[in-house]
Amino acid sequence: MTTKPESAGQPAASTQRLLRAIPKVDEFLGWLVPPPAAPASLVKSAVRQLLESLRQEILKGAPIKPGDLSQGVLLPRFAALLGARLRPNFRTVINGTGVVIHTNLGRSLLPEAAMESLLAVGSRYSNLELDLATGKRGSRYSLVEEILCELTGGEAGLVVNNNAAAVMLVLDTLAKGREVIVSRGQLVEIGGSFRIPEVMSRTGAKLVEVGATNRTHLRDYETAISEETALLLKVHTSNYRIIGFTSEVPLTELVALAAKHNLPVMEDLGSGCLLDLSRFGLAKEPTVGEVVRAGVDVVTFSGDKLLGGPQAGLILGKKEIIEQIKANPMTRALRIDKFTLAGLEAVLRLYFDEEKAIAAIPTLAMLAMPFSVIDRRAKRLRRLIGKELGPVCRVEIKNIASMVGGGSLPEQPLPSRGVALAPLDRSVNELEKGLRELPLPVLGRIEDDWLILDMRTVADKEIPLLANCLKEVFEAK
Ligand SMILES: *Cc1c(COP(=O)(O)O)cnc(C)c1O
Repeated sequence: MTTKPESAGQPAASTQRLLRAIPKVDEFLGWLVPPPAAPASLVKSAVRQLLESLRQEILKGAPIKPGDLSQGVLLPRFAALLGARLRPNFRTVINGTGVVIHTNLGRSLLPEAAMESLLAVGSRYSNLELDLATGKRGSRYSLVEEILCELTGGEAGLVVNNNAAAVMLVLDTLAKGREVIVSRGQLVEIGGSFRIPEVMSRTGAKLVEVGATNRTHLRDYETAISEETALLLKVHTSNYRIIGFTSEVPLTELVALAAKHNLPVMEDLGSGCLLDLSRFGLAKEPTVGEVVRAGVDVVTFSGDKLLGGPQAGLILGKKEIIEQIKANPMTRALRIDKFTLAGLEAVLRLYFDEEKAIAAIPTLAMLAMPFSVIDRRAKRLRRLIGKELGPVCRVEIKNIASMVGGGSLPEQPLPSRGVALAPLDRSVNELEKGLRELPLPVLGRIEDDWLILDMRTVADKEIPLLANCLKEVFEAK
């Protein structure tokens, strides 16, 4: 830079003129007739925000003309800004990504029965910690413990904030200051910085890694067992697969080895499904019941992954171990609230009838969804938008693949149908941004210059809303 158009701190005369032309707050408020239906303090703060952003734009040399500061230009801009301030920050979106268990979009959707229960206990008093049979103080955990045990064959169980908390709690209870043996192939990072080795070090458990990344044998565990060993841990490698020349020790062999040395075995199952998903053509995943039957002492899994319930960490296992965990003071810090319990119990009860569970639990219903249903959704959306979008956007229906998500079954693409959009009046990235920033945001994915909306994860009742969103975004240019 050789010359500066103006001395630092002293804007050019034209800039100063523009700055003086910005209305004052009170002047701007006078323009608002009738006043907007919003709290006065919020209106005033939005006015300040608008005027300050104008100031900044002018100072940065944005191409602003005096006419841009007129009522005609500023009032619509203010209305948009106030509208955005009035909208809840936390709101619903349309998931066109085709990722069924999408951690960024709230993972599992709750079934109707769970929502009814949530609404009831949220607005009315409940027996959260009252034993109605004795009238004495009860335990919130007992409200779902029996159901969990019936569904899985576990002896006892409890539920905490999430699976990460469940893993920490079990390690803290059983292995603090002692050794935990785990295969090198299972030292996973789940995302959001949840890494098994780091969790262990936090609880004061000492990690003893055995085997190689691709292969671990029973003798590797056997030679690592010492006086200091507290636990053998198996971690479900949910979000990746080691393929090729690999071997893992089956849980039953690990259990037999542990029994010989009088040690407990834990499995962090991650997703934790209660029914066999291979009947939907998905890869075979061990169910919680199978893991329990294999003789594991304690198993943990998430409530909002394949189970299809609210965020929670479920812990099941031998009575003696669960009692120790319940007595750990950390349990109190990780306890679930009444909404989680209400949602979880309702979801668990659906599992007593598997067919009912598949139909009523959205996560399962979406995984089991027939191709023809998704195809019908795609055609319906195209019918609703085709005519209006025709001049500004190519609309096609394409064969695509959905993902299970939530770190479950990473190698498992599900054949699906998507409505693909190729805008003629803007780039596909601009379209993606426009949809994402709508009052009802729409998320899709970009593939080969198409924005694709996977109809597996768009509910029937959302299709008219989605059509309106698409019209809105193309009108806004
Ligand atoms: C997802 C996952 C976790 C973390 O579960 P959250 O419920 O998200 O806390 C831990 N372990 C495994 C193997 C997982 O897949």
